[in-house]
Amino acid sequence: MKEVTNSPTDEPPDDREIAEQNALLAAIVMSSDDAILSEDLYGNISSRNPAAERIYGHSAEEMLGHPSSILIHSGSADHATDILGKLKNGQRVKQYETTRVRKDGSTFPVTLTMSPIYDPTGIQIGSASNICDVTERDEAVQKFRVIVESAPDAIVIVNETGVITVVNFQTEKIFGYRRDEMLGQPVELLVPSRFQAVFSSYMNHFFANLTVRQMGAERELYARCKDGREFPVEINLSSIKTADTRQLVVAVIRDATVQKQIVRRLLDLNELRNEFVFTVAHDLRSPMISICGFAHELINDWDATDDAKKIEYLQIIARNTEHLVGFVEDVLQVARIEAGEYTYDIHPFDIRSLVQRALDETASASVGRQFEFSAPRDFPAVLGDEDRQWQVLTNLLSNAVKYSPAPEPIVVGLSCIDDSVQVKVTDYGIGIATEDLPKLFIKFGRVSNPGVLKAPGNGLGLYICKTLVESQGGRIWCESSPGRGSTFTFTIPIAR
Ligand code: ADP
Repeated sequence: MKEVTNSPTDEPPDDREIAEQNALLAAIVMSSDDAILSEDLYGNISSRNPAAERIYGHSAEEMLGHPSSILIHSGSADHATDILGKLKNGQRVKQYETTRVRKDGSTFPVTLTMSPIYDPTGIQIGSASNICDVTERDEAVQKFRVIVESAPDAIVIVNETGVITVVNFQTEKIFGYRRDEMLGQPVELLVPSRFQAVFSSYMNHFFANLTVRQMGAERELYARCKDGREFPVEINLSSIKTADTRQLVVAVIRDATVQKQIVRRLLDLNELRNEFVFTVAHDLRSPMISICGFAHELINDWDATDDAKKIEYLQIIARNTEHLVGFVEDVLQVARIEAGEYTYDIHPFDIRSLVQRALDETASASVGRQFEFSAPRDFPAVLGDEDRQWQVLTNLLSNAVKYSPAPEPIVVGLSCIDDSVQVKVTDYGIGIATEDLPKLFIKFGRVSNPGVLKAPGNGLGLYICKTLVESQGGRIWCESSPGRGSTFTFTIPIAR
């Protein structure tokens, strides 16, 4: 194929060569996918290629000799005037982004290159335009933007000098910076200062070995937001090459705070479960060993054992069996509560007499313990499930007995605050450290007191109390001081 440019020799081309070159140029123009047009100095179209007819939807007759303004969107007329000024000065207009209009009135985005054209004597006779329809490119960019903007993770694109060039909506949301505060800044802006050195060397290494990878899979990663707060993240890195062959790194950053909390919670639950299994095994084992031992004693030595001993052994068996039954009931109650199968029989009742009965019963089972009760004489009825409130109160009383020594008294007080009655159970026992208070009301939550032997229990009582109280519209909490005692308070709505 002959070159379109002048031959390498300085000989001027002959007519045949010029004709061949012109034919070749014409073929290139005619087969181009871009619209190619020329216009005279008055702005009338003087030639066009088939792509121009296809792109604009005008036939050759509708274009040739007509003003090129029929192809120009009215909104971009100013640009056209501006362009014409440049062309008149002999300047070329390159890769100009603008809008053109089709015959049917629809508009489309284009990149436009225009050059002045001259006759053989060097006089400017018009201009030539190359118009590339970039509808598809713009649609692809639009799709890319929608995907990036709607991504649930932060997406940050960084150039090879480590400068942020693109961020999405989620980046603004997670990091707290506005977009304009991040664009053009070094990516270290988003990295805690103690990790910046490691991070920079990691990025350099990544640019040198571009592969999709999870960043720092072997260590915990943290990001830093505008207010200086750090949060755990997972980062995936990949690279893209731009049209001008620059490498960009795409970092997809996921806020791992919730995930880390879930893992922490699962680990805590696992620890609690292990402790529960140990406690249950221990709690079940000792009463069962005791029941088994005294039952065998009676079977083997029935005749040789006097009646008083027999009764003592049977009482031990009965006490241990009750403990086992109570424990199994607690576990079943928790299972029913959690399965949502628990129902409440709500009605107005007299809380004063309920407390008095609970105190009498606890006192008769706790020989040598002293109980005090204070309540105003006229007291309103409360609204709740009497049996469940009884369960809460007796649980708190039995804990007070369990975790405080005789002869310290146990004090119960009633008062009205706003729309509720407050029931306070105070003991002067071992107390609970402030940092242990949040553990009290969670399932299997037990507290160890240094130097104090752990009382038998399963850590379900207060969890059940909290569920029962809150299900009836009340609250429960504890104030305590180690070595000085505890006050457990719960509320019940007043009946109106
Ligand atoms: P349990 O007593 O069966 O272990 P609870 O849920 O009733 O279960 O109590 C949870 C934990 O709270 C107990 O193991 C104990 O460590 C602590 N606790 C409860 N009541 C008191 C109290 N009055 N004084 C000190 N510690 C208490």
